[in-house]
Amino acid sequence: MATGEKKRGQILVISGPAGSGKGTTVAEILRLYPEEFVLSVSCTTRAPRDGEIDGVHYRFITAEEFDRRIEEDNFLEYARYCNDNNYGTPRDFVEKELNRGKNVILEIDVKGGMQVKAKMPGTVLIMVAPPDLPTLEKRLRGRGTESEEEILKRLARGRQELEQMDLYDYVVTLPEGDVTSPAVRIREIMRAESCRVVKNADFRARFYGEKAE
Ligand code: 5GP
Repeated sequence: MATGEKKRGQILVISGPAGSGKGTTVAEILRLYPEEFVLSVSCTTRAPRDGEIDGVHYRFITAEEFDRRIEEDNFLEYARYCNDNNYGTPRDFVEKELNRGKNVILEIDVKGGMQVKAKMPGTVLIMVAPPDLPTLEKRLRGRGTESEEEILKRLARGRQELEQMDLYDYVVTLPEGDVTSPAVRIREIMRAESCRVVKNADFRARFYGEKAE
């Protein structure tokens, strides 16, 4: 990094089961630190729902454009779901924001997180976990919007997601009634990550020269 130049941002993958508080945590990070973080806007082939705005909630694209982007390796990760709805994280958007010095948040599942990690070394992976499984169940039931069958399905999926925690770098919990501390903690993690020697190769070269291993 030359003096005065803005340091490139980092990719932050945030995963966690429904009811973990992942969405709330991401919203709080963006509210507290709008200068440092930006949320990646995914591409999707599904139709917009009422109130959804192109470029804000998703970039709504055709199936043909989706396939073209895959061919051009323009997705850092993508998923095709059974009802033929496709979702992908666009590389161009992420690159642009990283170059502006922003940390780019990807709110995706573990499978997607692993794809991004493989393509983008230096990605930071954080799992947002509930304090325990009974709390997760209580939160899912507390929403009061889903059927018993849907709740049990989400719980099973949530447990599966949490069992993959070992693949992640950090785990953060959202305590009852406190949305701020996990957001502050995650920002601290990102600040520490940015000080890793491997992420400061240019700075290191000032002392060891370009040829140093
Ligand atoms: P919805 O259609 O309800 O907005 O999202 C359906 C599912 O797609 C959710 O589980 C959501 O997390 C997932 N999803 C949204 N964007 C992406 C993306 O960019 N990549 C992947 N892998 N999944 C996504």
